[in-house]
Amino acid sequence: MKLTDLYSRMGISPSVCEFGEKLQDDLQEQFARFDKTAEYNQMKVLLAMQQNRVSEECFQASTGYGYNDYGRETLEKVYADTFHTEACLVRPQITCGTHALAIALFGNLRPGDEILSPVGKPYDTLEEVIGIRPSRGSLAEYGVTYRQVELKEDGSFDYPAIREALNERTRLVEIQRSRGYLTRPSFSVRQIGELISFIKGIRPDVICMVDNCYGEFVDTIEPSDVGADMTVGSLIKNPGGGLAPIGGYIAGTLECVKNAAARMTCPGLGAEVGASLGVNRSFYQGFFLAPMITKGALKGAVFAASAFEKLGFAVTPTGSEPRNDIIQSITLGSPEGISAFCRGIQHAAPVDSHVDPEPWDMPGYDSPVIMAAGAFIQGSSIELSADGPVKPPYNVYYQGGLTYEHAKLGVMKALTTMEKEGLIRL
Ligand SMILES: *Cc1c(COP(=O)(O)O)cnc(C)c1O
Repeated sequence: MKLTDLYSRMGISPSVCEFGEKLQDDLQEQFARFDKTAEYNQMKVLLAMQQNRVSEECFQASTGYGYNDYGRETLEKVYADTFHTEACLVRPQITCGTHALAIALFGNLRPGDEILSPVGKPYDTLEEVIGIRPSRGSLAEYGVTYRQVELKEDGSFDYPAIREALNERTRLVEIQRSRGYLTRPSFSVRQIGELISFIKGIRPDVICMVDNCYGEFVDTIEPSDVGADMTVGSLIKNPGGGLAPIGGYIAGTLECVKNAAARMTCPGLGAEVGASLGVNRSFYQGFFLAPMITKGALKGAVFAASAFEKLGFAVTPTGSEPRNDIIQSITLGSPEGISAFCRGIQHAAPVDSHVDPEPWDMPGYDSPVIMAAGAFIQGSSIELSADGPVKPPYNVYYQGGLTYEHAKLGVMKALTTMEKEGLIRL
């Protein structure tokens, strides 16, 4: 059977198939740049694994307290060496990215301290952690205050306002690398480095923490290479490589990581406890694959951006702009557009391809949200997924794909569905 026949059996229309092949040919130069970044990052991870003498022993499972878990301790050194930090926590006890960020914040802040976000509103789930939206157990309830400086109209940092917002109570600055589900730009590691230098120039003692979710391995350097005291992320995104079934990481200075560990478990026990159960092997193997998995997701995002850009839709970033994370936003302009797009992505999945996603009222959102996710790991957004709040301007956020080939199929399936429903013409 020819590839085009296979695509046809998977429900891709001949016009979309042809459109996709042509598009892919035009993207080769960009793809080659992603290959180069991935090659560099693959070597970076491998070097850290070799230098720390990763061995079969590392894959053993510990139980109970998990004292002296050699695999866990070695893995944390591998992460620390990859991020070029003094220490790192990498644990299945960290349930998700929000939890990792919350541990880092609670562990390093004390009553009377203030957090500053110099990049506008942080990620949605952090609003309740910080207490921007009142919530049980938030930092606000412990007497930690919060201040925010908006980005300038053009998406750049408002340095004079940041200087003004820094005060004697500012203890920690939270910088979110990825746009998350906002329309602001994502920041390059270099831009984050400039911001950190500016802040440290005024207040050298302030902790600079970067929410690195969706950013790992997109560049050859990480926020920890440009002065971040803590770099934090989720293992069901880029660094888990699609294999980690749970987890989060906090890479940083020994002081910051020790503070976070005291909160992750409890004072006195810190990082010494925490059984790895059976996850070590998938954490190692996922981290080993992560540069390649991230590359596939990036190629998929550029393929999606270029396809929809060609069809006249607004996309952020555009197909040719540099990338700082794996997220692609596409403005589809109608509820029908979002629905057809998400159905297409779902129908391309390896798991649950036979179901139709429906909009639902998710806690914390002011409009129904539709989500497509046919993933091996629940909620894993390094796997091909898409979601969008069903409200104007009808943006869909598309991310992930464990292989470029699968991401490409997802986009082609979305295009075919939209074509069938008269929403696009090729
Ligand atoms: C995903 C994400 C988070 C939260 O991670 P969860 O694993 O969903 O809790 C935080 N910040 C950003 C920028 C994210 O993309």
